[in-house]
Amino acid sequence: MVKRIAVVVSQGQSNNPVKRDMEEEIVAALMMEPGIDVTVIPHLYDLKSDGTGMVALSGIAGNMIILSWLYERAARWVLDRNGICGHVGESLIQHEDDDEEEAELDEDKDRVIQQREIPNRKIYCLDLQVENSPQPYIEEVKRIASENSAEVVNLMNWVGGDATPEQLERFQNPTNDTALAGDGTLATPDSPTEPATATRIEGEAGRRWYPVIDYSRCTNCMECIDFCLFGVYGIDTAETILVEQPDSCRKGCPACSRVCPENAIIFPQHKSPAIAGAPVDAGALKIDLSKLFGAPEDGRSAEELAVAERDEQLLAAGREAVGNRVGVPKRQTTAEPRDELDDLIDQLDELDI
Ligand code: SF4
Ligand code: SF4
Repeated sequence: MVKRIAVVVSQGQSNNPVKRDMEEEIVAALMMEPGIDVTVIPHLYDLKSDGTGMVALSGIAGNMIILSWLYERAARWVLDRNGICGHVGESLIQHEDDDEEEAELDEDKDRVIQQREIPNRKIYCLDLQVENSPQPYIEEVKRIASENSAEVVNLMNWVGGDATPEQLERFQNPTNDTALAGDGTLATPDSPTEPATATRIEGEAGRRWYPVIDYSRCTNCMECIDFCLFGVYGIDTAETILVEQPDSCRKGCPACSRVCPENAIIFPQHKSPAIAGAPVDAGALKIDLSKLFGAPEDGRSAEELAVAERDEQLLAAGREAVGNRVGVPKRQTTAEPRDELDDLIDQLDELDI
């Protein structure tokens, strides 16, 4: 039996015709492939948890491939935030520097992900920013789909609890699989090898801006909840940090990502790749992580920039600036101890020569 696999194409935020053409070419090609169910959604990051798009994604059981204009990490943890989790499916499509050694995490620290049970499924996140033509993506999806058809998925491991009777039926009997066509009608392939139509989900709300936590890095240190003064973060019943009120985040503010000691906070739409979820290689970490998150051009450290950005947002919201008096960890306010060279420089300054 050929096992079907769900392929989700997340559209870009803008109506950039080049991006739209690429998305459509991928969708058109994949719809012709046997065993592939294609769903087209608005930009993944903008979907509301209870909106049609995210509900549709939650209903997908088994392995999933998602193509989006987001870094792989960003897409993965946006899904996770909505309860859509799985093991990392390895893709051959990667940014050029992805094969550099990924920053090694300190093994002495406990990461939130270690406390989690991960469903027995794979999620492949393909970044549409890597290649500039549709063909590599079409080929990669076909490669993963053929790999997928050889695997056995444990039916008992469903995302976030038991399957509904409809989901179970859909999973156990894929010949009855259904898809919502572009015109809103239901299409039913007669066999798993027959090409399916694409489901299109449209019309969700506009752009959003909120932090996404990478729990494979997060140590639950709570520095972000102390730093943010806009009530974005919360704590769940297991006392784990979470983004509780995403839409309370101030548009354009990435401040807390700069103070997270583990580089675990992602703002997928930020212009800086390090903040938007690009892989941080070990070499860059060794150089100086704060340089990736700070503003080396004007000499400010990541923490100074974060404090300034937070103050700017507080003032914009009609509140008082707090500087580094609130929620800035001591390690970030402690000045380097002065040494003899500092004294010498001060003396030279005083000579005014
Ligand atoms: S500051 Fe970073 S590591 Fe600490 S709880 Fe927040 S996201 Fe996790
Ligand atoms: S970016 Fe600013 S407003 Fe948003 S969660 Fe972080 S500190 Fe709070």
